[in-house]
Amino acid sequence: MAGDAREAGARGPIVVQKYGGSSVADVDRIRAVARRVAATVAAGYRVVVVVSAMGNTTNELLALARSVSPNPGRRELDLLVSVGERVSMTLLAMAIQDLGVPAASFTGSQSGIITDENHVAARVVEVRPDRVREALDAGKVAIVAGFQGVSRRREVTTLGRGGTDTTAVVLAAALGAEHCEICSDVDGVFTADPRVVPGARRHDELPLDAALAMSRAGAKVLLADALEHARRLGVRLHAAATARPPGSGTALPPGPVPEEPVAVVVDAGLELVAAAEPAALAGLPLRAAWWAGRALSALVDPRNLPGGVPAAPGRERRGPVAAVSLVGRRAVADAEVARRAWALARDADLLGLVAAEATWTAVVPRPAAPDLARALHA
Ligand code: ADP
Ligand code: ASP
Ligand code: MG
Repeated sequence: MAGDAREAGARGPIVVQKYGGSSVADVDRIRAVARRVAATVAAGYRVVVVVSAMGNTTNELLALARSVSPNPGRRELDLLVSVGERVSMTLLAMAIQDLGVPAASFTGSQSGIITDENHVAARVVEVRPDRVREALDAGKVAIVAGFQGVSRRREVTTLGRGGTDTTAVVLAAALGAEHCEICSDVDGVFTADPRVVPGARRHDELPLDAALAMSRAGAKVLLADALEHARRLGVRLHAAATARPPGSGTALPPGPVPEEPVAVVVDAGLELVAAAEPAALAGLPLRAAWWAGRALSALVDPRNLPGGVPAAPGRERRGPVAAVSLVGRRAVADAEVARRAWALARDADLLGLVAAEATWTAVVPRPAAPDLARALHA
């Protein structure tokens, strides 16, 4: 039986499954992922697995770097953090082999993930997955280290925090996969982060542009960069729970942001920066900027700035803030929705308000964000 399934698998459709850090946080979870992969093989698929570093490994490696140097070089940082995904890919390959299913693991470089030279936040420019294809042709599960690539100068690069999602999507496109499943600790994309808003509901289906608007607003569940690649390359995406068999979760077919609000999003990892003029904000990863009477206020995402927001003349750090967003065309275009959202935001010590396309965003002090999110969701 197992032999038959494996033979069918050698010709079957390709699926790319991505498992995030929480899904491989310890040995038991790695074994559970191995069983889920083996079940997918038994169902007749050729499986490519893209895996993140175990649990909190990436943060620990970055902290280690900072304990050695306050301003670690970006090339060395990339070499260092790429180790996290190498650990999980090899352990997962061993666990899958242990179930009697052939498997081989590959680094980003071995998988042909070619990027630009921009260390710590590199862009994928080409994918040449020859070795992954060879492994599939040989009847093996291919395990790929997420989040990392190689530049044309043969330097190891990484794709920015959360970049394993991007690896999965670009590989799915290059391999002509039937679909790409992003597996995590939540059962798909919800109307809000279920950890923050207990009443959040799962979307069984959500248009890709809506998921993209949510990610751009800072929803952690899927990486915006990966969704942009999926839209451009026509990859069929699915968000699912690692703890459940394939098939549940949220389907993400191509389509525009709906009229009705689809989600409340909290991004509690932002910083407010004040600047006398736009030039003083150059080079910062800006989420939004607005004129606030006497100065510019800028919402900055420091996640891919290893040393935090750097000091520079003409600008001043104003401290941590959160952005609470409502995604859906009516959130911006409907006067009644806007009036009610505005009233709730003013109660939350509003620092700034940005409305653009289908996303309405209130900038508030971090402690005020969860209550505002719950009020907006209700
Ligand atoms: P992984 O490590 O698997 O990549 P992430 O931590 O990046 O997982 O993303 C999953 C987390 O995203 C969930 O645990 C959940 O708290 C959070 N999240 C934020 N917004 C949403 C949402 N709208 N729907 C589902 N999960 C969300
Ligand atoms: N391990 C990397 C990170 O923590 C990449 C990822 O998890 O997607 O950002
Ligand atoms: Mg993630």
